[in-house]
Amino acid sequence: MKKRYGLLLVSMIVLILAACSNDTSEKEDDGKLKIMTTFYPMYEFTKNIAGDKADVELLIPSTIEPHDWEPTPKDIGNIQKADLFVYNSADMETWVSDITASIDSSDVAVVEASKGIKLIEEDEEAEESEEEHEHEHSHHADPHVWLSPVLAQQEVQTITDALVKVDPDNKEYYETESSKYIEKLKALDEEYKTELKGITSNEFITQHTAFSYLAKEYGLVQVPIAGLSPDEEPSAAKLAELKKFAEEHEINVIYFEELTSSKVAETLANELGADTEVLNALEGLSDEQQKAGEDYITVMEENLTQLKKSFFE
Ligand SMILES: [Zn+2]
Repeated sequence: MKKRYGLLLVSMIVLILAACSNDTSEKEDDGKLKIMTTFYPMYEFTKNIAGDKADVELLIPSTIEPHDWEPTPKDIGNIQKADLFVYNSADMETWVSDITASIDSSDVAVVEASKGIKLIEEDEEAEESEEEHEHEHSHHADPHVWLSPVLAQQEVQTITDALVKVDPDNKEYYETESSKYIEKLKALDEEYKTELKGITSNEFITQHTAFSYLAKEYGLVQVPIAGLSPDEEPSAAKLAELKKFAEEHEINVIYFEELTSSKVAETLANELGADTEVLNALEGLSDEQQKAGEDYITVMEENLTQLKKSFFE
């Protein structure tokens, strides 16, 4: 409940600030479109569509795990200053519904990139009754659609349509750039299909269950250590169950994530005598990684290389 009041307060401050300011042309005017995006894949997809026609900014710092992030009044002000605001899903950026009520939507267009994609409902068996009460209005759907190269194409298309609506003068430019990027995503999809041909098993164990859409796309089975949020700790009973599963299925690799603690995965890997590898859910990409030329495509290719370690003898 505390969190909700916090956001309500933030919303009220924004409303008061908006009411005090008669100046409606607050957007910095260098003629370029301003786009605010929430976390890495939203930034990357949008940048590839917008090219040099817009300034694309990243709201959530790449070093912060976006599941638990919440905006400050300054962040909300920066969203208000943009012409377009791009986010992934109400199940990822859960704070968006609270702020869209308070921002002036005649001034900033808002697009949910996963709109139109049917989300996988989370298994609710682990829900605590107390938590249930607190989150009674949320749907607990899996937001990680960007990790499927096929659904990523759909997100790119949705962002493109929103961009064209905001800036119809550059329609042709955006659609051309978007098509070029979608071609790259199609090639990535082909790479997954080709490389995963002839696999001898299809199960993989991961700390953060971010890969359901990817697994579904390529006929793989994701076995979770924890839940949808990467900082969730599994119970002793869950660990014992996983140990039994890994032994029975001869699984010799446990995946963990870069942004979060790998302690749990390492504990399990040690117990099983398995290797630990990284599967990157692309919820952030560090400046160093970006400077080294890494992007959505290269990281997804690296994920494929890592995944193959589970599927071939
Ligand atoms: Zn996640």
